[in-house]
Amino acid sequence: MRPRPAVLVIAGSDSSGGAGLVRDVRVLADFEVEVLCAVTAVTAQSSGRTAAVHHIPPQIVREQIAAAFDTRQIQAIKIGMLGTRATVEAVVDGLPPREIMPIVLDPVLVASSGGILLDDSGRHALQEQLLPRVTLVTPNIPEAAALLQEAPAEDGLAMIEQAQRLLRMGPQAVLVKGGHAAADEVVDWLVFGNSSLSIASPRVTATQRGSGCTLASAIAAALARGTPLAEACQLAKRYVVDVLKQSSAGADRQSSEPAFGEEQPKNDARRW
Ligand code: PLP
Repeated sequence: MRPRPAVLVIAGSDSSGGAGLVRDVRVLADFEVEVLCAVTAVTAQSSGRTAAVHHIPPQIVREQIAAAFDTRQIQAIKIGMLGTRATVEAVVDGLPPREIMPIVLDPVLVASSGGILLDDSGRHALQEQLLPRVTLVTPNIPEAAALLQEAPAEDGLAMIEQAQRLLRMGPQAVLVKGGHAAADEVVDWLVFGNSSLSIASPRVTATQRGSGCTLASAIAAALARGTPLAEACQLAKRYVVDVLKQSSAGADRQSSEPAFGEEQPKNDARRW
């Protein structure tokens, strides 16, 4: 039997379980891909608040990456929260060339719970040192604007133009996600070389966090399985829509009857 493909996830943890490493592991398990990890930060977050962020010493991040590569063959890398310049530099030092394996970067800057997940100096290092090393970067509209120090894109043409400017910073491809645009349909733009491809989906109203982590991990999983880039982005987008639909169905369910087969919890009985 052939061993499963593996993805190295370089990311922070989110105690709410909504985003970060916990989310990444769940996505990669859905794609039947093994996970190795290098933890960059530990965060204490609830859905509305970032209570604390602890950065792992960069030397420990370096050691985790080296140990992952010593453990087994890795087919793709997913990078999420980095936190500081020193961590960005530790990651840059540990990365193999992107010709050897695809590297997907979710440029995490700020959590929806309010915390700063990459400081300004870290953002500069990401732009100057990390973007030229990655296969794909997946900013949303505010992240693309922050990386370019421009106003957020207001339509598809502006998204493509910003993606092209990001491409000049060195990644092989840019996927600008349209979730923050005010439209019924969410249109992402994948830009590489002279091509631009739109990937559209219906808007799903969901409160679930971590959709950026989910998408980038799903793309990395598909790439690790040998799927070409454009197809991997389309597949990952369909997966995110499914996850969001399930979470909004789950939220509806919580406020009504238990689903078929679920035990009705009894408030007065201890069950553990
Ligand atoms: N917290 C951590 C540790 C993350 O890695 C990320 C995203 O990658 C986030 C929070 C952001 O998630 P959200 O935008 O859903 O708050």
